[in-house]
Amino acid sequence: MQLHLIDRQTASERGIKHFFTGVPCKHGHIALRYTRCGECLECHAARLKKWRAKNKGHIDAYNARYQAANPDYFRSFHQRCHLKSMASKRRRRRMIENGTLKVSDPVWQAYERERWKHLRQLARQYEEWTGITFEVDHIVPVVDENVCGLHWHGNWQLIPMRLNRRKRGVINHEVAV
Ligand SMILES: [Zn+2]
Repeated sequence: MQLHLIDRQTASERGIKHFFTGVPCKHGHIALRYTRCGECLECHAARLKKWRAKNKGHIDAYNARYQAANPDYFRSFHQRCHLKSMASKRRRRRMIENGTLKVSDPVWQAYERERWKHLRQLARQYEEWTGITFEVDHIVPVVDENVCGLHWHGNWQLIPMRLNRRKRGVINHEVAV
């Protein structure tokens, strides 16, 4: 657990949107909770997922309409991201084959998922407390000309978004080694 403790009242007084006590919610999640309504982030996500499933027809229709109205956006997105995305898929398949990425091991999966979730929440706390946007960064980039990092906890760190953007695509071998 890496999140910082802040009770609801303090958060409310300081105008911070989320608080965290470390006490599980009624569904057993240990997560950030909204200062305004007290709902935990994971319950909120679950509720949203349920709502999306229930309104699937409506959402699909909306998306189809949006795509039809903005064909250029989707065409250029495909052009920008297709090669990267194919490279990443190929690498993922290779890693699964040689056993680096244990995607079929449920314990490993759960462990990684929890760590990722908490890092994302910690980023949110940093952002609310400092006003600087943080994000989880891959220390060695996953998609790069020279190197190929892995998506696992040993390769994750929290850094300010602006630094992360500047870092993009400029790794050299001294950093990578
Ligand atoms: Zn919950």
